[in-house]
Amino acid sequence: MEQTTGNRVVILGGSFAGLYCAQVLHDTARKSAIPKPKITVLDRNNFVLFATFLPEVLSNQVNPLTVVPAIRRVTGQRDIDFRQTEIQGVDFDKKLVHTETGDFEYDTLVIALGGATNFYGNQNAERYSFPFKTLADGLRLRNHVIDCLERANQSKNAADRRRLLTFVQAGAGCSGLELMTELEAFLHHVCGRVYRNINYYRDVRLILAEGLPRVLASLPELASQAGLAKLAKKGIEVSLNTFVTDVGPGWVELGKGERIETETLIWAAGVKANPMTAQFPFEKDRIGRIKVDEYNRVLGQENIYAIGDVAHFIGEDGVPLAQTAQVAVQQGPALARNLIASWEGKLMRPFRFHYRGDLVSIGNLDAVCTPFGWNIFGLSGWLLFKWVYFSKMPVMQNRFRLLSDWILYFLQGPIVSRLDEFGSERTVIGKPKEPNA
Ligand SMILES: Cc1cc2nc3c(=O)[nH]c(=O)nc-3n(C[C@H](O)[C@H](O)[C@H](O)COP(=O)(O)OP(=O)(O)OC[C@H]3O[C@@H](n4cnc5c(N)ncnc54)[C@H](O)[C@@H]3O)c2cc1C
Repeated sequence: MEQTTGNRVVILGGSFAGLYCAQVLHDTARKSAIPKPKITVLDRNNFVLFATFLPEVLSNQVNPLTVVPAIRRVTGQRDIDFRQTEIQGVDFDKKLVHTETGDFEYDTLVIALGGATNFYGNQNAERYSFPFKTLADGLRLRNHVIDCLERANQSKNAADRRRLLTFVQAGAGCSGLELMTELEAFLHHVCGRVYRNINYYRDVRLILAEGLPRVLASLPELASQAGLAKLAKKGIEVSLNTFVTDVGPGWVELGKGERIETETLIWAAGVKANPMTAQFPFEKDRIGRIKVDEYNRVLGQENIYAIGDVAHFIGEDGVPLAQTAQVAVQQGPALARNLIASWEGKLMRPFRFHYRGDLVSIGNLDAVCTPFGWNIFGLSGWLLFKWVYFSKMPVMQNRFRLLSDWILYFLQGPIVSRLDEFGSERTVIGKPKEPNA
């Protein structure tokens, strides 16, 4: 067991919420007269997944390593102890975190374990579809799309080709639209040019099923309409008020029984809390998020806090805050400042979320953006999207990589090589995933 003395803060999860919390906690504590806390960050990955650019990994606008800035680039410059390890559970009575590499004692615990794909109990969707939440998800889907192209390019059978080149996606929220339009951009680029037997307009079919009455449902109506119009212009078929009801080997069923022959169902239909929260004896909402008060303190607890996607925080309008990085990067630092304030004997300040709008890229050179209530669509929106997220990339090294990736992509187009080690066969429709895969 790791034995230390003093004020031990253990942060579970080193992504947007956890890492930003650790960083501000360290930097603010340095300027304070209080004894310095011992900050430990635990995460199974030694990187932060900058998920905004995950759709661009699919289209190869950016390389996989570019979207995963190393946690040590942030913690290494500070007195923050980062451990790459799998968290297995927490003994709240003994104030111990159990991990695969040992136990960690804490005085203050920050839970920032994020979310997971929500299949809403649809077991076939979980078994056969491609989720899009982790880097491995992104690479697996990319490999699968390339497999479909390779097979379709060789096929003499028009029906087979059509099935292989029909891509169905559930979910048309912000990341769903980014994903589908990056897929469209990629296919548009390589069909005919790299895969010479495939005619994009003749063979490729892209279908977006959304259960709500509009795409980009969290954005204002005007932005939604603009998004829908842009999808139509790209030839993407959109079915609103339509759920994916079932999926099996080689087919997907939409709405009230429309059956589509396809090898690919992409699942971008929802997020829930990290399943580990099921072990925690706290009050939770229906998607497993831990209920917290206005200071992000877990209800009924003294020194346990939850932030980011794993927390159920009621906003000023009475609605729980969305699971976005925009929330996570505000909650992490706010909690850090409150912890320092409480150790200094001062009052904590209730967390207020400042919504700054949404930036949604719609494939190459197009976007729907609503910064601070403004509507900026098209090329200027796309430039804004690129600039804002470029500047939000937490590590300078990765910013330079982003720039060079974008330049090379626009000069040379995408690379269609598969990254074999991530496979794709486990999730190809017709070959179900292994248990726990
Ligand atoms: C494709 C995509 C695009 C997105 N685009 C945007 C966008 O443009 N703007 C925006 O605001 N939001 C966006 N989001 C949402 C955003 O990524 C999340 O809201 C944000 O990452 C939440 O941060 P978090 O720190 O709360 O959780 P996470 O980022 O999920 O981090 C949780 C951390 O906990 C670690 N962890 C979990 N379980 C364990 C365990 N048992 N042991 C060890 N470590 C563990 C994980 O490795 C991870 O590092 C996007 C999401 C996706 C999937």
